Amino acid sequence: MSIIDKAIKANHNYAKNYDPVLGERPAPKLAVVTCMDPRLSDLPGILGLPHADLDVIRTGGPAVTEDVLGELVVSTRVLGTKEILLLNHTGCGFTTFSDEELNAKLSASTGDSSPAPMRFFSYKDPEENTREQIKKVRSHPWIAKDVPVRGLIFDVETGQLREVHPTGQHATA
Ligand SMILES: [Zn+2]
Repeated sequence: MSIIDKAIKANHNYAKNYDPVLGERPAPKLAVVTCMDPRLSDLPGILGLPHADLDVIRTGGPAVTEDVLGELVVSTRVLGTKEILLLNHTGCGFTTFSDEELNAKLSASTGDSSPAPMRFFSYKDPEENTREQIKKVRSHPWIAKDVPVRGLIFDVETGQLREVHPTGQHATA
């Protein structure tokens, strides 16, 4: 049985005890941009906030793409989130290759280079990545200046968060 088939089967039980209140219009308070890495999935645990408060946008890295900026505009302007958290992490898979390397590798292994060059948004340093993200989000004219934009790095070995200062220094959160 495929994993998705298992999930569909398990959903029958989930739906039996489903609380219809959960289907009401959401009112999240915090927009979180974080990596697709499963180690970042327990956000209520990592951040001590309930699922319902979190509007979660996930990409590899995470990368703050044009799409992500659009989602942050909707999150703050339409859904009403009050703060933006850019949640990076140590040990990210996107630091293990460069876009150029992965394009070359996939072109060779599949024998088809027609999608190249794809943007994978690989990066080397999570702090630098976070600072660039803060700059990108902060400079968007449709993200209100009174919405705080902060960057944290989650250490996958200790479970601790540390804050990245936009200008270079960082402090323990
Ligand atoms: Zn990652």
